[in-house]
Parts: sequence; structure tokens; C-alpha cells
Amino acid sequence: MTIFNLGSINWDHCYQVSHFVRPGETLSAKSYNLNLGGKGANQSVAASKAGASIKHIGAVAKGDAAIEVLQQLGVDTSGIEQQTERVTGHAIIQIDSDAENAIVLHSGANGALNWQWVQQQLSQGQPGDWLLMQNETNLLEQSARFARQQGMQVAFNPAPMDKAITLKLLPQLDLLIVNQVELQDLSEENELEAAIETIQRQSSVNLLITLGSQGALYVSADQRQQVKAFRVDATDTTAAGDTFIGYFLARRCVSDNLGEALQQASAAAALCVTKAGAIASIPDAEQVRTFLE
Ligand code: ADP
Repeated sequence: MTIFNLGSINWDHCYQVSHFVRPGETLSAKSYNLNLGGKGANQSVAASKAGASIKHIGAVAKGDAAIEVLQQLGVDTSGIEQQTERVTGHAIIQIDSDAENAIVLHSGANGALNWQWVQQQLSQGQPGDWLLMQNETNLLEQSARFARQQGMQVAFNPAPMDKAITLKLLPQLDLLIVNQVELQDLSEENELEAAIETIQRQSSVNLLITLGSQGALYVSADQRQQVKAFRVDATDTTAAGDTFIGYFLARRCVSDNLGEALQQASAAAALCVTKAGAIASIPDAEQVRTFLE
């Protein structure tokens, strides 16, 4: 089974600054870091590290180095279109002395995916393969419908949450993966059980809810399974959800064992929060195995 991940690819330009730049001011940064990110890329890398066959579908500017980075991390990059008329999605991130951040995001090629290209990639999908999507690209509904016609299963992680888009997509989904905030925004309920009920009234979609340090919960019409978070020294929760999702789907591709998929995803996400960074903090399968021993 293959995971086709229709997702964003971003370069995060991170600047350490004394304070956020003010109107009209030119400010020298104390340091600079360039990291590959985007929820799409993070989830592709997590799935790859978990051992899945993962094909990323997306777009970057022609010749962008992101393709090589993803390739080296085991992701099939043949579905990434190189666009001549767009820049690669990127974020300008200022981090001040209180570790607060201020971000300018430009979606670039992520928001300009070309349907012909995407359709061509998805037409390689086989029954049982997964289409995974987040809310950082265009073409979500068309892609979900087309994947379903191919007999593929569709998982959606509505991040950042857009309630209208998510509700419209629900009938096309097999699995909806949300964190607590996204679940609250979508259901307009603060309490977990009420939120689950609200979604279940509207759709028969299977739900995977990540609950931060409380673990995660999988709910379908006939199954309900919970996994605890592993106790670790959390230093940076960036990409925890992305790691969880990539590992969970990767395990679902090779096994029907829901409990094992949740356990592996929870262990991988726990390891992720012990390390700084996004892609750099995603553990590989060997590290997860050792952690679980
Ligand atoms: P997101 O990163 O999307 O906000 P969550 O905060 O729900 O998602 O975290 C995703 C998963 O990462 C959780 O289900 C859990 O397995 C793991 N996780 C998050 N925070 C911690 C923590 N402090 N300790 C251990 N595991 C954590």
C-alpha cells in the first residue's frame, strides 16, 4: 500500500531577533536558520521514517532543493511539480528574546497546485492506497473525490482549521485527524464527548483525535480505542501531530492492528517532542523500536 500525500512544502526562514521589527525599522538578526517544513512535508517524512511507501504530491519552484532533501529522507518526490511561475511556499519567522514568534507566510506554489498534474499522480493510486491531505494546499475536494473513485481511502488533517472546507469534505473522507483545538473549532463544543457526538451526527467518518500530553483517541462507528501519551521531557512540541499522523497511517498500511498503530504513533510523537525542530525531530523506526523495548 502506498500513501499519496497531497501537501505543502515550505521553507521556514527563522531569525532570532531582539524584538519584532517595527514599522519602518531595519533590524539585524542575531542568527538565522533555514528549515524545511510545511505540514505536508513533515507528514511525508514521518511516514517515510516509519517505513511507508510515501509519494508526495505538491509543487515547488523550479529547481528547488526541497525535492532533494525529501528524496534523501526516503520520500518519492516524482509527484512534486516544479513550477516556473511560482516561488516555493515559505515562512519568515521572527523569534524574539521571550521565544515568542511572529510569522509571515506565503503559500506560493502550495496554493497553486495544478489539477491536471495532481490527477495524473492520483491515477497511479490502487484500491486500498491512502490519500492524505492537510489544509495547506488547494484542490482538496477534487482530489478526495478522484481518489475515492480510484478505490483509495482518504484521510484529512484540517490544519489550519477551516470549518466550511472541512464540513464540505466530510462525505469524501474515511478518516478525519484533528487535535483538540481543531475538534473544538469544527464541532463548536468544548467538551470531548459532545464534540465527538456532534461530528458523528453529521458524518460516519472515523475520527482520530490527538490530545497532546493526554494521548490520542480513535473513534469509529464500532470501535473506540485510546492510547496514552508516553511520559517524556517535552522540550518542543513542533511537528508532534505530524509525526503522529505519519506513523499512524504508515502502520495502517501494513497492519490491521489499530492498537499497535496508535502505540507506534504515540511513541514516535513522544520522541519528537523531546527534540527541537520539525523534520529534524521526527524519529526513525529504529529509534521508535528501541524506545518501546
Ligand atoms: P498537534 O501537534 O497537532 O497540536 P497534539 O498536541 O495533540 O497535536 O500532539 C500530537 C501527539 O503528540 C499526541 O497525541 C501525543 O501522542 C504526542 N504528544 C504531544 N505532546 C506530548 C507530551 N508533552 N508528551 C508526550 N507526548 C506528547
